[in-house]
This record gives sequence, C-alpha cells and structure tokens, in this order.
Amino acid sequence: MLTTKNYKFWFCTGSQDLYGDECLRKVAEHSKIIVAKLNESGLLPCEVVWKPTLITNSVIRQTFNEANMDEECAGVIVWCHTFSPAKSWILGLKELRKPLLHFHTQFNEEIPYDTIDMDFMNENQAAHGDREWGHMVSRMGIERKIVVGHWSDENVQNKIGSWMRTAIGIIESSHIRVMRVADNMRNVAVTEGDKVEAQLKFGWEVDTYPVNEIAECVDSVSVSDTNALVDEYYDRYDILLEGRDPEEFRRHVAVQAQIELGFERFLEEKNYHAIVTHFGDLGSLKQLPGLAIQRLEEKGYGFGAEGDWKVAAMVRLMKIMTQGMKDAKGTSMLEDYTYNMVKGKEGILQAHMLEICPSIAEGPISIKCQPLSMGDREDPARLVFTSKEGKGIATSLIDLGNRFRLIINDVDCKKCEKPMPKLPVATNFWTPQPDFYTGAEAWILAGGAHHTAFTYDLTAEQMGDWANAMGIEAVYIDKDTNIRDLKKDLMLGSIYYR
Ligand code: MN
Repeated sequence: MLTTKNYKFWFCTGSQDLYGDECLRKVAEHSKIIVAKLNESGLLPCEVVWKPTLITNSVIRQTFNEANMDEECAGVIVWCHTFSPAKSWILGLKELRKPLLHFHTQFNEEIPYDTIDMDFMNENQAAHGDREWGHMVSRMGIERKIVVGHWSDENVQNKIGSWMRTAIGIIESSHIRVMRVADNMRNVAVTEGDKVEAQLKFGWEVDTYPVNEIAECVDSVSVSDTNALVDEYYDRYDILLEGRDPEEFRRHVAVQAQIELGFERFLEEKNYHAIVTHFGDLGSLKQLPGLAIQRLEEKGYGFGAEGDWKVAAMVRLMKIMTQGMKDAKGTSMLEDYTYNMVKGKEGILQAHMLEICPSIAEGPISIKCQPLSMGDREDPARLVFTSKEGKGIATSLIDLGNRFRLIINDVDCKKCEKPMPKLPVATNFWTPQPDFYTGAEAWILAGGAHHTAFTYDLTAEQMGDWANAMGIEAVYIDKDTNIRDLKKDLMLGSIYYR
C-alpha cells in the first residue's frame, strides 16, 4: 500500500558566461563531484540528479519546466557556484511548481590562503552569488528551504535528506484520497472542516460511501481467505483469552480478519489511501473495525476515528513522508485520553477505543476481545500494546472557519510507570514540551484537537515546512514555547492568514 514513486531531486547549478569556458568547465566538474558525494553519503532518502549548468534565462526556464513535467522529480536544488544574475531566473522561478531547496554551499571548504587570486574568487563566489539569487526568491515570495554549509558535512547532508522527505510530502499530498464510510460524530466540532478548501490547499480528495457498500465487500470475503488471515494473526500475536471460550474468541477475531480483507479490497479497488469510520454508523458490520484498522494503518493507510478525515489524511501523509526510513519507530492516530498529574510524573495517556497503529509498538503485541461501551455491536477484537520511548511530534490540523492551522507539539514518549492490566487498548504515554502545564495550555490556546496524527520519525521543522508550502499557518509548541509569546504568534497568524 505504501508505494510512492522512485523520487529524484534535480541539482541545478547557477552561473553565467562572463568568466569564460574554463570557469564554466570547472563549475560543471565541481557540481558533478558534489552530486556524486551527496549520493554516496547514504544520508539522503532519494537520488540527486546532476543537471547542466544554468546560465541563461531560456535554459533556466526550460530546465524548470522539465522538472515540472517529470513525475519522478520531487524537487529542485539550486546552488550558485559563481555569480548568476537573478533577473535571469525570474521567468523560470515563476513557472517552477516543484519544491525548492537553496543549497548555500561552496566547492572548497577552506580559503586557499597561499594561492588565492582573483580568478579563484570569481569562480567561487556563492557567498554573494547565492545572496543575489536568494534576494529574488524572497522578492517573489516563493516558499523554499535554505540549507547552509559545506557539502561534505554530515549535518548538512542530513538537513538535505530531511527536506527531501518534506518535499515528498508536498508532492504526495496532492494525491491523497480519503474514504469516509461515515459522517463526523454528531455534535463534535474539531473533526469537522471544509473539504473543498482542503482539496484546494492540500489536494486531498475526501469522498463518502454508504457504510453498507463496504460492508457488502466485507461479506463477500471467503471463509478460506478469512481463516488464512486468522491463522496469520494467531502466529504473529499473543492471544489473551482472559477467560473467554477459545472458539468464541476466534470467531470474534475472524470478524476483524474479514473486515481487514474486505476494507482493503474496497480501498484498493477505488484507489483510496485513508479511511474514517464512526462507532455510531456501522451499518451491517458486526464489530467496530479495530484490529482490522490497526493492520491497515500498519500497511500505510491513514485512519481517523469518528469521521475525522483531517487526521486520516495527516496520518497517511506522515506515513508517506517516513516511507523507507531506516529504523523508523512508527506513525499513528492517537487521542489525548487521560492525565497523570502527579508532580514530577506528569503526562498524557494516549489511546483510542481501538485503532492505534502497531508500528509504534514496543514489545509483544496481543489480541484481546473485550466489550466496547460505545455503539451496539459485538465485542471487537483489537491489538493491545505499549509504545516506544523517545521523541516524537503530535500534530493537529484544525479548520478555523476561514483557514487551516497546523499545530505541532514536540513530545517525549515514556514508559508508563506501571502496567495497566485492565486496559484493553494500545497506549502511548508522553509529556508534551516544554512541560506538561505549558504544553497543554498552549495546545488548548491554539485550538488543537483531541485526535492527533503522531510520529516518532519526523520533526516539527519538516511538518512546519510542509504547512508553509501548503500556504497555511504552522504553530510550534516546543522547548522554547512560553504562553505570552505564543499568544503573540497566534495574533500575528490571525492577521497574516486572514
Ligand atoms: Mn476519538
């Protein structure tokens, strides 16, 4: 399910013909070396492709339009080796529709004190060539990332790699299709939103199907297919009967297996990448999809509960942005459920009725079958686990009526102090930055939801850059947050983004 294109990034070096062919030969040679070393670093998720030096209006315009047309090109990296008069770039920049990185580097790391002469300086003048170029991009108001430093530096390479994932998010956002098989939960505000505006801003297609259409697809899954998947579950997960009859337990699990297969077929057939359900609108489904949804999330589908299509799309987006990441720790929908307010141990227990993605799990994953107080269906089977420790980000995309805002909170995930043997759902436990009290106050002030799209594998910077590229406000809650400044930020945002 998580199949994105074999994305590449174009490396475009700016120059001009004022300094002669010998200089241009070196510019090309140097930029080829930089591209090769970046690719050899092993720190970039995608390949960098060298492009011939850009020296004239027409070549720049043509190259950028080729980038626009190339489906595998997820972004353009520009560096001005020599001076490159920025008016030459206006037409190309106006027409460029791919994410843009300004790589402010220099071929040589150190000034060659003994040999430096004017020829050397004219050839290596990114220090002012890139300023001329950057001025134009700023004047044109074009969203871009700037990475500064020598190309051989691992920190610099990591910054480029990190931006590549943002760029993939920007490109892939426009292909996200969310299937709603239920409307938003009655009377709930924060899961609502303007779907037309979401398509305009983010490219998301959000469509509704009657729940019984997908339920029919579930019914049509054969007993043998269902049993094969149940066998897989029983191999892979611990079975916690907790006094239930083994046969009856297995029948309950089989309902979820059938839902997983039926939902997946329906989503694939209709080309959707995310789904929302609602415990109050299940049609002929026998159980609220729990284990089934958890497995689909693990396969890369986005999910939002109670009709929360914004979270479903965000989870999908973040799963795409983290695809193929070495040592990824996971991405899931979560919900701020209940607090620990003991001094020194403050934190928020994250959970949901059922549907937490097992990609964030640490340790064994078990299947439990328990009654659900919400809705009016059979006791649903679900995967139960606790989550990894470490840094993560919780995000909430809200609709303020006239615009969207993305709230991003750095959180520290911790081991829960004690086991919770009677809690039949998956959990995570975190303390928001800068601390529990300020973090929760800031989140509520900013209007953040109770549902979040959470990941261990992206940074606030990556998600904030994505939001800015979408033309929406990003609000950061992190170690530097204090309430007085946050109020000022929100006030400025309300003026700027009106
Ligand atoms: Mn909920």
